[in-house]
Amino acid sequence: MTSTGEERPQTVLVVVAHPDDAEFGCGATIAAWAREGWEVTLVICTDGGSGGPDDATAVGPEERRQISRTRKDEQRAAAEVLGIKEVVFLDFPDGQLLPSLELRRAIVRQIRRTRAYRVICQSPDRVWTPNYSIGRFHPDHLAAAEATIAAVYPAAQNGWDFPDLLAEGLAPSRVRELYVMGAPHLNFAVDIAETFEIKLAALRCHVSQLGEDQSELAERLRAWAVERGEAFGMPMAETFHRVEN
Ligand SMILES: [Zn+2]
Repeated sequence: MTSTGEERPQTVLVVVAHPDDAEFGCGATIAAWAREGWEVTLVICTDGGSGGPDDATAVGPEERRQISRTRKDEQRAAAEVLGIKEVVFLDFPDGQLLPSLELRRAIVRQIRRTRAYRVICQSPDRVWTPNYSIGRFHPDHLAAAEATIAAVYPAAQNGWDFPDLLAEGLAPSRVRELYVMGAPHLNFAVDIAETFEIKLAALRCHVSQLGEDQSELAERLRAWAVERGEAFGMPMAETFHRVEN
């Protein structure tokens, strides 16, 4: 248990599978919260080493290392644009992420280290309606989400889970608010009218994945943000399923 007299820390931990996932799902929210004074740490679960073209015919360890390095550089640049304080790469192999105890422990370590008050994660649910693309359900996304939610409750706040972390000096820490991106039921929206352009600027850092010309993508994202905002009476929004703990 955290002590009740503790000052409310303005700390956010964003946990996603790959470089660029956070920019797509919650980039404008991160920028908005960072402007409000929240200290944001971004955790990327994989090494990004599978981020090459689908039709590659020869992929060896050196190609994987190279693409991983490029994507990490792009991610650090994008994080700076959004106002993120720190990026942590857990370096699990891209494309092979599982909701393992090892991954859960690694995320608990980051929650306890940062004393995260808010956590943003991907959704562990497959939703086939109305017309979500199969790309939404990358198994790495589902695994990162499942492990993060399991890390939030109860492991981060329960010293009996992962006693080795106690030995590292990482005391239990209770996350108060969980925000799930792309969840089947969305109950919370963040007004991103002021920070939508920052999201686009951050996405422009991910050239290896999205190319130089992102004008079409930008228009798609703009239409999306407007559509999401409508349901909540906002001009533009990113939406979440929000749970208090
Ligand atoms: Zn991804």
